[in-house]
Amino acid sequence: VIEFVDVEKSFGSNVVLKDLNFQVAQGERVTLIGPSGSGKTTILRLVMTLEELTGGYIYIDGEPLTHENRDGKRVPVSKKEQKKLRTRIGMVFQQFNLFPNMTVLENIIEAPIHVLGQTKKDAIAKAHSLLDQVGLPDKADAHPSSLSGGQQQRVAIARALAMDPEILLLDEVTSALDPEVVDDVLNILRQVADTTNVTMLIVTHEMGFARDVSHKVMMFDGGHVVEEGPPDKIFTNPEQERTRKFLSAVL
Ligand code: ATP
Repeated sequence: VIEFVDVEKSFGSNVVLKDLNFQVAQGERVTLIGPSGSGKTTILRLVMTLEELTGGYIYIDGEPLTHENRDGKRVPVSKKEQKKLRTRIGMVFQQFNLFPNMTVLENIIEAPIHVLGQTKKDAIAKAHSLLDQVGLPDKADAHPSSLSGGQQQRVAIARALAMDPEILLLDEVTSALDPEVVDDVLNILRQVADTTNVTMLIVTHEMGFARDVSHKVMMFDGGHVVEEGPPDKIFTNPEQERTRKFLSAVL
């Protein structure tokens, strides 16, 4: 579903990702771990076309995110194609990013109606069932500012799921939350993982969660993959000293 081929990403002279090659299969859940600044968030932003590649290729379902223009220069696919692509990908951010001037219900139904063309009635019905699923059945008419961080993040998850995404990108979704609500949010995501076949690319510092939900864990440092494998292997018997050091600092 997602394929990185010789991907490079720099910001000016700062090379953040180098020679990055990996694939994520349909329904696979892959977690990226590694120290701060190792480029994990940048990988998710590239998939979502929120950043432009500086080298290599990324394919989503075989479609490249860049193409060559008439001068033979590589440029991102058109805004229209990016928009279409984003309808198939849900992203949940560290800082919820809800629309502050809309109610919870309006936040959830906005894209299904305006982007997917669902009827308002269908979108509302689906939104209510998602609010049940994330444990907020009575918050449809609330505004985001009246909700706690954990509640806002649960709405953000419902909003992402309302699009029935093929791919879900989770970027440190619990890092901004109070410790006592982290488990509520992670349990909702565990349930999504257990009950759907959505492909997930996850950046998290919650190693227990990574272990429970991932098929594969990739350890990053300095813009490349240090080591990758099934969670049991990476967490209990890592091969690389760099991985061992990182895990002993975070576990
Ligand atoms: P963290 O766990 O702290 O979020 P990360 O592994 O997700 O770290 P990234 O956020 O991907 O790391 O950042 C990798 C590097 O890219 C950092 O050196 C950062 O300063 C740089 N970077 C990220 N976004 C930009 C940007 N828009 N402009 C310039 N530099 C950027």
